[in-house]
Amino acid sequence: MTKRDDYKKTHIKDRKLAPESLMMSYGYDPNLSEGALKCPIFQTSTFVFESAEEGKAFFEVAYGLREKEPTEELGMIYSRLNNPDLEILEDRLSLWDEAEACSVFESGMAAISTTMFELLKPGQAVIHSAPVYGGTDYFMSFVLPKFGIETYGFNAPGDRDAIEKIIRENDLKDKLAMVYLETPANPTNAIVDIEMCSAVAKTYSTEEKPVYTVVDNTFMGPLWQNPLKHGADLNIYSATKFIGGHSDVIAGATTGSADLIKRIKTLRTFMGNMGGPWSGWLLLRSLETLKLRMTSQMKNARYVADFLEEHPQVEKVYYPGHLEEKDPEYKVFRKQCSAPGSMISFDIIGGEKAAFKFLNSLRLFKLAVSLGSTESLAEHPATMTHADVAPEDQRAYGFSDKMIRLSIGVENPQDLMADLAQAFEQI
Ligand SMILES: *Cc1c(COP(=O)(O)O)cnc(C)c1O
Repeated sequence: MTKRDDYKKTHIKDRKLAPESLMMSYGYDPNLSEGALKCPIFQTSTFVFESAEEGKAFFEVAYGLREKEPTEELGMIYSRLNNPDLEILEDRLSLWDEAEACSVFESGMAAISTTMFELLKPGQAVIHSAPVYGGTDYFMSFVLPKFGIETYGFNAPGDRDAIEKIIRENDLKDKLAMVYLETPANPTNAIVDIEMCSAVAKTYSTEEKPVYTVVDNTFMGPLWQNPLKHGADLNIYSATKFIGGHSDVIAGATTGSADLIKRIKTLRTFMGNMGGPWSGWLLLRSLETLKLRMTSQMKNARYVADFLEEHPQVEKVYYPGHLEEKDPEYKVFRKQCSAPGSMISFDIIGGEKAAFKFLNSLRLFKLAVSLGSTESLAEHPATMTHADVAPEDQRAYGFSDKMIRLSIGVENPQDLMADLAQAFEQI
């Protein structure tokens, strides 16, 4: 299959092509699919070997009985192990993060849980930024402890002292195996310093017990923040959000070094939670417009955030694009993000009652959780996405029942502002 390698070219002469230029072709050889311009959906559970010898060779490598020869191309075996839609998607996703490898899952939670199970052992501990995504919070609070793994949170944005204090007070020096973070934090947009977290992880790393830095990069999305460039070992996405981008598929991905991804994929084979061909195909389609969509969403969000900042019924706007030089998070934001993304939260004057009236009055914005899609969404974190966070914890994280969270889509920004303006008038 040397021909397929032609489709793995990332350069024209010396020029390195940008990911958006490669999303329509990279990793797919039309000659292997009757000349089809687009990668078909390989809706098959198993693959035919050309000979028994070939089947034997594929299995030897897949099961780690021997290393792959440098020139050897591995064929397909069975869709729980590999499938063209999944492999091409993984190749293309790796390009955005400039990662060596990627593993795609049937959900963001599958990516998170499988990555954690592979890297953690009983008796070890995780320190994480807080708040984290509700599903992740549940997994760390109730599932990991069943396997003897302890978890400790520090409030975002946090700093080195806060993490060191947790390590000291709980005697975690020999137990710490992972620093896990979400930045910007959901729903406050607090910016956690990835480089700082990675430095702490390295301090407590030993040969026998590496401490991994893992970042859930879902909230900012692939274009505007690359945790791998700031010391993270692994980068996780709910591909349901910006990557899928059309609110029509649930999927997840982890990107990082070839060594770590190989381990994670091995566990994935036995958990059986790999992405299927249909999800893979949908995401390949989504990736072609990833930059267009995210750029349009990011630009729209700036209009909306500026509009909210000026509005008399708004108490406070939480938006990284409004950080000022005097804010402690400003420097970290400038260091690790190339744009402010398209998630905005704000406090409305009048608390939950005003918030509900506002949400019920929206017409173009849809009242729904999730984020990163083409359509704009609005929700109430205190009673929806973060309903199981106790009110005192909500306050500690910096939000309450007066907060509304917006995910900005690709609509006309003037229309979005007209919708928000009329909803404010209803209160
Ligand atoms: C949605 C989300 C997840 C979970 O992803 P699923 O695809 O729903 O499993 C994890 N982390 C963050 C930050 C999310 O927004």
